[in-house]
Amino acid sequence: MEPRLVTEAAEPGQPNEDFTAATTDAMVVLDGATTPAGQPTGCRHGAAWYARTLGSLFLAAISPSHPLTGALAEAIDNVTTLHRGTCDLSHPGTPSATVAAARIQAGVMEHLVLGDCTVLLDRHRVGPLAVSDDRLGTIVQDKSVQGARAALHALPAGSPEHSGAYRELAEALAAHRNRPGGFWVASTDPRAAAEALTGTIPVSELSAVALLSDGAARLADRFGLAGWPIIAALLAAHGPAEVIRRTRAAEDSDPDGSRWPRAKPHDDATVAYWPLGPP
Ligand SMILES: [Zn+2]
Repeated sequence: MEPRLVTEAAEPGQPNEDFTAATTDAMVVLDGATTPAGQPTGCRHGAAWYARTLGSLFLAAISPSHPLTGALAEAIDNVTTLHRGTCDLSHPGTPSATVAAARIQAGVMEHLVLGDCTVLLDRHRVGPLAVSDDRLGTIVQDKSVQGARAALHALPAGSPEHSGAYRELAEALAAHRNRPGGFWVASTDPRAAAEALTGTIPVSELSAVALLSDGAARLADRFGLAGWPIIAALLAAHGPAEVIRRTRAAEDSDPDGSRWPRAKPHDDATVAYWPLGPP
């Protein structure tokens, strides 16, 4: 069976900064980091361009001779070359993206996750295992970041004050990005690929694998409305669009973020789902 991909922008008509693509033996999901409105980035292309360009180059670089980390490093290098001449890539706001990928080769599923995307391995008998990189969550415990987050979450989503607080949170986080002891995402430095979490599992042990951007993982990891076993069952029974539909329904039930404080009422949401059949 082949991968099934669904991606949806946070708001209709706005650019989708998530990206997903697949071949018959690999699939990728990327989530471009949103830049708060009015904040300079040094890049004329933007987060959506960065995510789709890096994602396309990454998928193209996946080959039998390459581990996924090598393909990702090559793709980061190539996207950097593409806009080095036109953009200031040393700017702290330069585009970045979180990344998840899975590929099958010789009966083995290899996965990669860099940043807060999730790889969901739905295993026969033992059930689903969600793999995500929680280093960003650790950084959120930092005092400056905690202060910025508390200020953000005390304000109603969509207000000008909320936008200002969001900008301050982004700046506090940027101080920890792609630094030893901080958190790692794809941006301009190919060495970030070596920081990705990776693993392998025989395909015969899996009923499915899914890649989710953080906007699609909210039901489980932010809202607590469904555990990963329920998400895995939803995917198997109804496909990836149903997970996004339920995420939007939950967000719409809490438009100002009073139940679930969050930076954005909706986020771009993406699920790449690869059913692998019975044991
Ligand atoms: Zn650029």
